[in-house]
Amino acid sequence: MTSPDRARLTIDLDALAHNRSVIAQAAEGAEVAAVVKADGYGLGAGPLARRLWTEGTRTFFVARLSEGEALRAELGDRDATIYVLDGLLPRTAERFDAARLTPVIATLPQAQAAVALAAARGRYEAALQVDTGMNRQGLSFDEVAALINAPGGLRALDIRLLVSHLGSATEPGEARNSQQLARFREAHALFPGVRTSLAASAGAFMGPDYACDMVRAGISLLGGGPEERPDPRLKAVATLTAPILDIRNLRPGDRVSYANAYTATRPMRIAVVGAGYADGVIRGAMGKGHAWAAGALRPLLAVNMDLLVIDLGEGQAAIGDPVELVGPHALVDDLAAAAGTVAHEVLCRLSHRAERVYRGA
Ligand SMILES: *Cc1c(COP(=O)(O)O)cnc(C)c1O
Repeated sequence: MTSPDRARLTIDLDALAHNRSVIAQAAEGAEVAAVVKADGYGLGAGPLARRLWTEGTRTFFVARLSEGEALRAELGDRDATIYVLDGLLPRTAERFDAARLTPVIATLPQAQAAVALAAARGRYEAALQVDTGMNRQGLSFDEVAALINAPGGLRALDIRLLVSHLGSATEPGEARNSQQLARFREAHALFPGVRTSLAASAGAFMGPDYACDMVRAGISLLGGGPEERPDPRLKAVATLTAPILDIRNLRPGDRVSYANAYTATRPMRIAVVGAGYADGVIRGAMGKGHAWAAGALRPLLAVNMDLLVIDLGEGQAAIGDPVELVGPHALVDDLAAAAGTVAHEVLCRLSHRAERVYRGA
């Protein structure tokens, strides 16, 4: 293999399949639906979804209608159910029909529009999101009750799934979780027999009460731990590597990169690496995060647009050697913590400047 001239993003679909089975085991019999919004957290919704289909996934979630349309095209003639979390926005019903997408009703006006469609057509399929305490998407309990009592079309509204979303699932001990579960059960009592989905990745690991009939897994399919820290059961799906472009020696007092990046306090060896924030390495990880080089984690001294600098320590490395910026050693949750963000954002930012390679397609 010739050494690459630029960062390389390797997407390991075997690791994705592994993570899916870990989540399925944790969720104890619940269906594992895949959340592939934002183009599969930046990793490519099509390749992820096609491999997950092979592994048995039949239900997918996206955020935007346009993402649903793109995913339908990527899935070809596979008869998957695709839910759109934004729901039924005005004047979009025909696009839902054309791409065979199912809206997740998120507001009362959307619910009224769906009821009107059901009345006009005799039948309309949707998922219904209820707000159990996150105050972001979903109908309140009172709105749900009003919907139930709405005349006409409600009986024709074919609710395929009752959805809610946990606000504190990365902290399983938080009281808000059990409060949300209790409210979800109250809402479900109004829809006997309808399937339920409360948990995203984090909630999928909180036991069968939270797993309900279906979990909606996103970040943990991609290797992010359910509690925002590395989970050894999960494997990294995304690996970003970039070559060492230069190795330099510093004397005490030498300054590296722009203004405040780093000042050497001792003689040291640094490596200049051919990737930066334009490739998706979060600049906020500078001074706190680590990259994997020469067999160990090495401090990130500077992150610029095209280049970053690591402290090589005693590591033996040569120009052209790959440095892992995210992957099985430089874990996405650790990088996120160093940068003050979540693994989701680290992955979403991995840019298209890096060359993409899919393994296990
Ligand atoms: C993004 C999202 C998910 C997936 O969340 P992860 O933390 O990535 O597993 C599930 N449900 C809803 C409503 C979402 O917005």
